[in-house]
This record gives sequence, C-alpha cells and structure tokens, in this order.
Amino acid sequence: MGSDFYEMRAKLENAVLRHHDFYRSSLPLIASENLTSSFVRRFYSSDLGHRYAEGKVGKRFYQGCEFIDEIEEMALKLTKKLFNAEHANVQPISGVVANIAAFFALTKPSERVMALSVPCGGHISHDRISAAGIRGLEVDYYPFNYENMEIDIDKTAKIAREKNPRVFVLGSSLILFSQPVKELAEIASELDSKVMYDASHVLGLIAGGAFQNPIQEGADVVTGSTHKTFFGPQRAIILSKKELADRVDDAVFPGVVSNHHLNTLAAYTAAAIEMMRFGKDYAEQTVKNAKKLAESLYNLGFNVVGESRGFTESHQVAVDVRKIGGGEKVAKSLERINIILNKNLLPWDDLSKTINPSGIRMGVQEITRVGMKEGEMEEIAKIMYERLMKNGNERVLRERVMELKSRFRTLKYTFEEEEAYTWV
Ligand SMILES: *Cc1c(COP(=O)(O)O)cnc(C)c1O
Repeated sequence: MGSDFYEMRAKLENAVLRHHDFYRSSLPLIASENLTSSFVRRFYSSDLGHRYAEGKVGKRFYQGCEFIDEIEEMALKLTKKLFNAEHANVQPISGVVANIAAFFALTKPSERVMALSVPCGGHISHDRISAAGIRGLEVDYYPFNYENMEIDIDKTAKIAREKNPRVFVLGSSLILFSQPVKELAEIASELDSKVMYDASHVLGLIAGGAFQNPIQEGADVVTGSTHKTFFGPQRAIILSKKELADRVDDAVFPGVVSNHHLNTLAAYTAAAIEMMRFGKDYAEQTVKNAKKLAESLYNLGFNVVGESRGFTESHQVAVDVRKIGGGEKVAKSLERINIILNKNLLPWDDLSKTINPSGIRMGVQEITRVGMKEGEMEEIAKIMYERLMKNGNERVLRERVMELKSRFRTLKYTFEEEEAYTWV
C-alpha cells in the first residue's frame, strides 16, 4: 500500500460496504450475534465515546460526569428491574471481563470450581485456558449425560463432596435447555459455596421471560454479554445477591476495568428499554423459531442434537454432521451459499476434534429480529437439506437464500421499524 491516503480511505470504506452487502444478502445464524437498532447504534457515535468515568455513580474520580451518572443510574435501575435482581453492575466491557471479575469476587487463587467442559458447551473463560486460569483456579468438569444434554446431578454431588468446589459455574455457549440451578444451589449451600450462571447466550431470552431466570432459581451471581440474544452493543453485565454487591463491584473496578466505554453504556441502556417493551414477543418467537428449525431439519433426516428433550428450548439448534463430512466441511459448504454458521464441538468430541468437530451450531435470534417466522424456518431447513444431502447447485441455492433474505431486511421489535443492515 502506498501513501495515497485517499486510496486507503476508499479501500477501508469499500471493505466495510462489501461486508454490509454480504450480511444483507445472507442468513446469519451465528448463535452469539445479533443486530442493533439505530436507536441503540446512535449512542455508539455520541461524544460519550470520548470520555472517562472511573468509579461508581456519584463517586467518580474525574469531573464532567454529571450526565454520565444519570445514564449509568438509569442502566442500573432498568437492569435490576428486567432481571428481578437485588444488585447489578453494568461496567464490564465484555462477557469474558465479567467472568474474570466474578471469579475474582468469589474465589481465591488455587481454589477449585466446577464447570462444563468446552465440548459439553462450556465457554473457554470457564476453563484454565482463560478467566478461571487467570484467577489460578483448578477446574473439575461436570459429568454430563449426552442423551439428555444434561449435567448428571447425582454424580456431580459425589465429586463435589470430594473436591469441595467454591463455585459451581453454569450457563454455556452451547445451551439448548435450562440447567439445574436449584439442584446445584442445594449442593452449594451444603458446602457453603456459590452458584455462578453465565447467561451470555440467553440473556435476552431471560429478559423476555422465555428461559429460566437463574436469579429466581437461586444463583448467587449471573454474568452475561449483552449482544447475543439481548438487543445491546458488545458489552456485559453482572447481577448478584445483595450481600455480594461490594465484592462484585470492587472486582469490576478497580479490578478489571478503569473506564468502561460510555458510548456502549448508553447504547446498552437503550437496548434495555427496547427489551422492556419488545422483549417478550421477540423471545417467544425466537424459541418457537428454533424449535421449528430443529424439527424441520430432523424431519429431513438430519441428526439434530437433543431429540429426547424436543431439540431445544433456547435460540440454538445443534446438529451432529459427522455422517456428512463433519463441522468444518459443512460450515464452509454453507458459507458458499450465504448461510453463515459455525462448526462446534459436541459432548462426545475430545479437543483433538477442534479443527473438524462433529457438529454445527445455529442461532435464530438475528433472523427472528428481522421478522422471520416458522414458515421461513422450514424453507431454511429445505435449502440446507438440498445443499448438504443432495449436493445442490451452489449458484441456484445462493440465489434462493438471497431471495428469501431480500424479504426480511426490516428490523422488528423496536420503536421505529427500519432497514436492518445500514451503515449510519
Ligand atoms: C460469548 C460468551 C462469553 C464471552 O463473551 P464476550 O462478550 O465475547 O467476551 C462468555 N461466556 C459465554 C457462555 C459465552 O457464550
């Protein structure tokens, strides 16, 4: 690249525009992503993105925070109300940062925690490779029942009584069904340990009342990123019982954030308002759509995970694709017809399968946000069937995906429905 700055500008803009075009004409099914409304996005580009506000509302270290305090106060109130939580912290700048803070609040180095292994759905930040390791924790994995995609509680109780974990981590990245919060809270109270639920994937479904609320079921701490099923920007929150409030707040600041990105704080607050108004309808439709997509794929002969429990109760669908080439091949084959999803480890995979795991994972939250319903889920299943089981023509199937998507580019479940894939 030369020093032609106009050329560089054009090249950068062009890359973003082509990215927008690609997503506008695709079916994005990555389970950790979503769209934001321009009501939410407007706040990203406000002056708030240039400012600092270290510390708590009313107790800042710099001047100039009067209106920032007003915004953060509002975010705290709305968050507590949405999740029925005694305490909230809205400062973590991502889900992993929230998990690091939660581990610092709840544990000391060299203590043990229990978590789901990555193939069983656990997030890397629950393991020694990431947040748990940063705190110096030892991790024992829950015994897991593949058939029901469920933690084996009896075996877990036995291990727990031996190993004395200080925290039971729940919530996961592959999360099809509700998890045993009550049961683990009982074991935790016997051992005087805590239950932490990482709701990153399902935060918007919880806010909409369509998934288990771990707070109400007895979790001590709930973490979660705000951009997966929730309507927010990339950011996170921590909820907790009142008695843990100071430990959580101190772990966040000065623990793992100094400033906390005030433009996305305001955008998160806007998303919380949207959730309060539209969350219920959106969350219910999302779960209905996921069920329909899973059933349709199953009826077309796909090996959909979780059959014994009705495939899914969340926004996610997982399919074992070993018989049709494995996750790597399938995900790439679908990308060529503008269906964007990811390969995924499944519980029976060991970590040597990371490059070509058994599964694929899909989330229907984004296509639900642009108004797709059960009929479109059947259509998507058919296109996938033709591509993967019938080796259907790439160009023809890509046209079909683009035609389908062209009818769903309006963002719904927001105050002013609008073109969804614009660049403001
Ligand atoms: C996505 C995810 C995270 C990480 O969130 P980021 O905002 O990407 O840091 C943490 N935990 C779980 C269960 C997740 O799925």
